[in-house]
Amino acid sequence: MQNFAIVTFGCQMNQHDSDRIGEVLRAAGLSEVPDPEAADFVLLNTCSVREKAEQKLRSEVGRLGVLKRERPGLIIGVAGCVAQQEGEKLLKKMPQIDLMIGPDNIPELPAMLRECEAGGPPRVRAEFDVDAPSFLAHDLQHAPTSGPATTAFVTVMKGCNERCSFCIVPYTRGPERYRPAREILDEIAGLTRVGVREVTLLGQTVNSYTDPEAAFGPSARHATGDWRHTERQRAESDESEFPALLSAIAERAPNLARLRYTSPHPRHLTRSLIRAHAELNVLCRHVHMPVQSGSDRMLRRMIRRYTVAEYLERVTALTEAVAGLTLSTDIIVGFPGESRSDFEQTLDLVERAKFMSVFGFKYSPRPFTPALKLADDVSEEEKSSRLAELFFVSNAIRHRHLNSLCGNEITVLVEGRNKGGQWGGRSERNEIVHFSSDFELTGRLVKVRIQSANKNSLLAELAEAIDDAPRALPAVAAKPQRHLPLSPV
Ligand code: SAM
Repeated sequence: MQNFAIVTFGCQMNQHDSDRIGEVLRAAGLSEVPDPEAADFVLLNTCSVREKAEQKLRSEVGRLGVLKRERPGLIIGVAGCVAQQEGEKLLKKMPQIDLMIGPDNIPELPAMLRECEAGGPPRVRAEFDVDAPSFLAHDLQHAPTSGPATTAFVTVMKGCNERCSFCIVPYTRGPERYRPAREILDEIAGLTRVGVREVTLLGQTVNSYTDPEAAFGPSARHATGDWRHTERQRAESDESEFPALLSAIAERAPNLARLRYTSPHPRHLTRSLIRAHAELNVLCRHVHMPVQSGSDRMLRRMIRRYTVAEYLERVTALTEAVAGLTLSTDIIVGFPGESRSDFEQTLDLVERAKFMSVFGFKYSPRPFTPALKLADDVSEEEKSSRLAELFFVSNAIRHRHLNSLCGNEITVLVEGRNKGGQWGGRSERNEIVHFSSDFELTGRLVKVRIQSANKNSLLAELAEAIDDAPRALPAVAAKPQRHLPLSPV
């Protein structure tokens, strides 16, 4: 076997897993091909948070099965949450699959492939590493060869201890396991050395992080603060050391231009975390804070463990502490029992919190989840119509926000060229910006002047480059590079 292709459906966590899987396979001597039809081994890495991704997986396995009839040597693998959730059951239903591998078993993949090639039976490896959790770091030696990345995901924890009634994650990713801060800091330092400018810390409830090696000491804990509405939580106290981790990263990775994190839980949006946002320049002025619903009745049924007032109090404190900070969120429509009035409360919250982006989902019943006991009583048509209404409201808010930026100068971290040849990047506040320039700008922080707003992004013209990104490896460019002179800073 010589080459492989990975097809990823799902969230950032799945994408991060796919990137690490690619490195493990390259380290084993395989090369990656972009077209799955041309690969000896195709791995489908999927999430199972919503039923749609699972359906997509089934149709993709069916399609590859046809190819396998022509090329019996083709090996089909399934990775990710679905492998963890379905395991042997899916193997029985879909005999085209040769191997299934859970997120904690990725290093075993080359050995499994060798067994497959030698004619071994289909196998499933999907065990949680609860006793000795390990975290796959970027393997820079075996990263794809398309030049240094500007942005990177770094895992700080895996699993989830929340028991949101709709969510399959605790069952597919297991209980919370935290990565030692020492490893996180080393990985980020290594990434900045090869030119990564922006790191996004990853975890299912990323802001519940505590260091398993207790490097931050007792003073970093018990930072719950004095929220007005949270009698229950004051009693619980917040053990998170996430703000301490952010400070340590800011201190130990001075070359890092930007730091983001996803997904936090509103319960751990503490005063200490807000203080970190106000004090650490490296932290971007954008937070994705999943709220799920604007109705207290729904939040109780979802077992989210906060009220709308608590959520609003916390995000308002955050936006007051950090001028101009933008918010985005996740919302589920059509959760069991959601009335028109519950849904209208969600629309009201979207307006009040002025979310710049809303990731909206129609409720989809998932195996093992507590919500399965509730009747899925909002019709499919009603779910679709509520989702469309939610997007209509949130698109209007985003459009107003983007339009308000016309004429302003903002700083963009350039990630690369888009299909049309323009440069694309994001502002600190997560606005997507496109602009034209003949200069090689990948990984550079540049100042642009906003000219107009599209539905989801901004069009701009280049004003100036404001730093010289230290790039250890040469950026890959189609034509000879002209470097933009630096402005004096
Ligand atoms: N851990 C994060 C949290 O819940 O705060 C997000 C994890 S999940 C991978 C991403 C989003 O998928 C959730 O925030 C939720 O809006 C959506 N989601 C999860 N389960 C769902 C379900 N059964 N039906 C529809 N949407 C769902």
